[in-house]
Amino acid sequence: MGIIRLITVVAVIWLVWFFFKRFQQNLINRKQAAVKSNNTVSSVKKCAECGVHVPESEALEHNGLYYCSASHKKSSSSNK
Ligand SMILES: [Zn+2]
Repeated sequence: MGIIRLITVVAVIWLVWFFFKRFQQNLINRKQAAVKSNNTVSSVKKCAECGVHVPESEALEHNGLYYCSASHKKSSSSNK
């Protein structure tokens, strides 16, 4: 009976440890996913003329505002 009890205790401890590790890995994955989505949000700029969202690398900046194309940048600056 002693050995069965010991095996049961070890199995329970192993299960708790296993699920704790999995829970920890889930938290890490969620944090990494949140960081990734934050990065994509910050790298997208909204066109001040038409409201289209463009990647920061493709957006044209003028007076602190971002535009999707050179024509929108031109038409916006000529309005003011
Ligand atoms: Zn635009």
